[in-house]
Amino acid sequence: MSFSTLGLSESLQRGVAQQGYADPYPIQDQAIPPILAGRDVLGIARTGSGKTASFVLPILEKLQEFTVTKKQPVRVLVVVPTRELAAQVAEVFQTFGDFVMRGVKTVAVFGGVPIAPQLAAVRGADVLVATPGRLLDLVAQKALKLSSVSILVLDEADKILDLGFADEMKQVFELLPTVRQTILFSATLGDGVKAMGNNALRDPLSIEVPEEPLDIEQIKQTAYRTTLERKGVLLRYLIKTGKLKQVLVFVSSTRTADNVVAKLVKNGIQAAAMHGDKSQAARTETLNKFKAGKLTVMVATDLISRGIDIQFLPHVINFELPRSPKDYVHRIGRTGRAAASGEAISLITPDDEHHFKIIQKKMGKRVDIIDTADLALTGY
Ligand code: AMP
Repeated sequence: MSFSTLGLSESLQRGVAQQGYADPYPIQDQAIPPILAGRDVLGIARTGSGKTASFVLPILEKLQEFTVTKKQPVRVLVVVPTRELAAQVAEVFQTFGDFVMRGVKTVAVFGGVPIAPQLAAVRGADVLVATPGRLLDLVAQKALKLSSVSILVLDEADKILDLGFADEMKQVFELLPTVRQTILFSATLGDGVKAMGNNALRDPLSIEVPEEPLDIEQIKQTAYRTTLERKGVLLRYLIKTGKLKQVLVFVSSTRTADNVVAKLVKNGIQAAAMHGDKSQAARTETLNKFKAGKLTVMVATDLISRGIDIQFLPHVINFELPRSPKDYVHRIGRTGRAAASGEAISLITPDDEHHFKIIQKKMGKRVDIIDTADLALTGY
């Protein structure tokens, strides 16, 4: 299929071409026509599948049909679990919204930043992208009403529930008109998501895009045997001697993230931490710098990293192993996207050896562990 056969107007097709999208991804093939036709959709798809454009494009198309009223109340509401996703989704609406004749105002709102500027910003928004808590705060402060929403999108519904927003979502549903189009995307279809779907969707079309199997073979995996005491200096040694330019380092706690960053910076390596205790402004700045190649190392916890859309990374380092083998594959998968291949490095202490064996068994691939006991690390 091509974008020209999906029912999008020429102006949006120009937008798609300008973004360098040659052909629609499978989720877009499947979701765009029914959304254009006004159907509810239940989509099982992950970040990276192209799911965002699969709802943004048809929604923008439909927005052109709505009459423009003086106050332009919110027509489209997108509920997302995290601040990062809110910003990413709003950006996609803005990018393609520029190609829509009548102009589209998209606003992203989320917690962790002062509410005052948002009270004013939501006025006149056509599209509102929001995390559940802040959305309810804005309604409570009478900054906006949800009674004119015609299209509701629930993006990453499983994560919305994982983060404990079930009650907030119930309140949101009560504020919305019952007659509307609803689109629900989720990476997984557990009981909670099913229940939410039953409550929110009407005769939905189910779409599932099987995840492309990650080709682990093309990812170079390396592991180094070390001790807790030598981990930090080994990390710096690997970054400096390997002349690594863009490295995502995974740790298991906020505290470790901060400690690792402090040591890297002290030793002349540009680094910043990415975790839930950082302010929104700091997180956005870190991510932008890292994406632009202006920050050598980003040290992150799993929760935060999951929603981050970075297509390809040359190096991922597991400073600490994740608990689940699935998370391990998810982490290293960031270096093996789109026919490009990078390297995933794991630092293994004696306590990790058994767990690392389990990870290798689950992933079905052996990784040799290189001993570093004789490595001279002084000076790094
Ligand atoms: P998403 O799953 O929505 O986060 O999208 C993942 C990435 O794929 C984003 O960086 C999009 O810009 C990109 N993308 C989405 N659709 C296409 C397409 N049809 N062709 C090429 N890239 C795309």
